Amino acid sequence: DAQTLRETLRRIDGRGYKAYKELQGTYAFEAFTLFIDHVQGDPFAQPSRLRVRVDRTASGFDASFTSGPSRTVALCDYLTRLFSRTARRVTKGIRGTGKGGLILIDTPAQEILPRTAMSVTDNHVEARFFLGLPAFGRRIAGRDAMEMLLSELPAIATEALFFKEDRRAALTAHVECCEDADALREKLSALNRVAFLANGALLPRASGIDPRPLGSGAIPFSSPATLRMEVELPNRGKVTGMGIPEGVTLIVGGGFHGKSTLLNALELGVYNHIPGDGRELVVTRPDALKIRAADGRSISGTDISPFINNLPFGRSTTAFHTQNASGSTSQAAGICEGIEAGARLLLLDEDTSATNFMIRDEKMQHLVASENEPITPFIDRVKELHDSQGVSTILVMGGSGDYFATADHVIQMTDYAPEDVTEKAHGIAKEHADGRMVETTGPLRPVTHRSPRPKSIPLEERRGRVKITTYGRHEMVLGTTRITFDDVEQIVEPSQTRALAQAVAMATPLMDGARTLTDILDRVMETVATQGLESLSDILRGDLAAFRKLELAAVINRARTLKTVP
Ligand code: ADP
Ligand code: MG
Repeated sequence: DAQTLRETLRRIDGRGYKAYKELQGTYAFEAFTLFIDHVQGDPFAQPSRLRVRVDRTASGFDASFTSGPSRTVALCDYLTRLFSRTARRVTKGIRGTGKGGLILIDTPAQEILPRTAMSVTDNHVEARFFLGLPAFGRRIAGRDAMEMLLSELPAIATEALFFKEDRRAALTAHVECCEDADALREKLSALNRVAFLANGALLPRASGIDPRPLGSGAIPFSSPATLRMEVELPNRGKVTGMGIPEGVTLIVGGGFHGKSTLLNALELGVYNHIPGDGRELVVTRPDALKIRAADGRSISGTDISPFINNLPFGRSTTAFHTQNASGSTSQAAGICEGIEAGARLLLLDEDTSATNFMIRDEKMQHLVASENEPITPFIDRVKELHDSQGVSTILVMGGSGDYFATADHVIQMTDYAPEDVTEKAHGIAKEHADGRMVETTGPLRPVTHRSPRPKSIPLEERRGRVKITTYGRHEMVLGTTRITFDDVEQIVEPSQTRALAQAVAMATPLMDGARTLTDILDRVMETVATQGLESLSDILRGDLAAFRKLELAAVINRARTLKTVP
């Protein structure tokens, strides 16, 4: 119990750091159980892994907070944030050497995601976190450790893992907000909409690197009358906003009028947001995929023939390989791979697209004959993608009117306010019809499913283990294989990247040259769905967050070693 812990710390005080290993074990405190699962090897190593478990009944969170997955996820998210804030307040920062003195829990950004940092079941409330055991040089700082484990930690647990009446309102708002967003997203398909933005939503962010809402001066979202609709949510009741229909939607408007801000909000509408974020009721269908140009990436056997054909020297594009894609081929690959993995809504922004992939106007058609142009521009496939494959597109394009005729809906942003200009745009397209020819190379065929070859991602072991490291949100190293994916924009937390790295390690042994990539992705996602995120790792770790199949596919597709059988 806590007394044993005190005695052990007293005994090992001043000894070499390794003696901390003795702490590993389980300790019964008055209000909770402490698990010291893994003690770090030295003060500079990754901090030790601990858990605090409170009996569910004692915690005081009644059944209403966990009725349904949306609420449970939101409760865990709320408690994780509270634990994180409290730990920062209660601890004294670094003590002595290395990371000594720190109590850290995976800290969420603006999204409410399933995470391993907190678990709430019928039986318990459990926080999984990291603690830097303190040292002076490499000698155990027993008194400091005592203060951390016997005073700071109990204070944090008492504050963050038990129900407090004065937090009822905030907690209720949190779970209701998450449940409403999930309900709204689920309604989209029955309404034939791909996205919904509630009136009053605040889309702009504090800065390009700060995802919190813009502090002041944000213009609230307001739907144009033609696209306005009302939906009924379980908690908020009736909500009015803009529903973006299936098909092709074009967002136009002058520079700096809020086009990209709108699209960015839609990209992250696949996730739920915390109360106060401004995007609580901005939701996008769950299989929405942001596509951008990523020149320099590798492509392994992707069928990009819907968009690219007749390359110089007769290079195949039905199973295209390169270690150095161009802007246009990278964008074509992103779309074809996305559809292969199940994307049914594509989000594209002129700011991050290859111009020659998006458009090819009449003058250029006169100068460069189509035999000499391998690219079938997106404009000549976008409608077909929807009609023949059920893939919708939302596209930001302020620089060319060529899409007017193909778009089912045209939304103009003026001073951050959307206006439906579909009729006007269609009228202009008719009136100013030019001699631009549609140039496709035959009808769109269903996507080709590739099968990755064995050892496509070599997982080199050292001492029987594959070392897996991630850096930020866009880089992972498995053994000696480095995968970078800066262009994958819908990853919002490093914890998702850590989980993705584990998922890649789980997917790789399934690659046998026969199973399709989709099949492999489905198996991994199925494991996570049935056995939880915890099943991604053989040790219980509190730093993993949920990810989508589309991001897992995107990461695997960017592995430079990937080899596939068509
Ligand atoms: P565009 O893509 O049309 O050129 P952006 O979406 O990049 O424009 O927006 C330009 C600027 O306007 C950004 O700094 C953004 O934060 C800000 N902005 C966007 N929407 C709003 C809004 N609703 N209220 C206030 N500022 C906004
Ligand atoms: Mg823009």
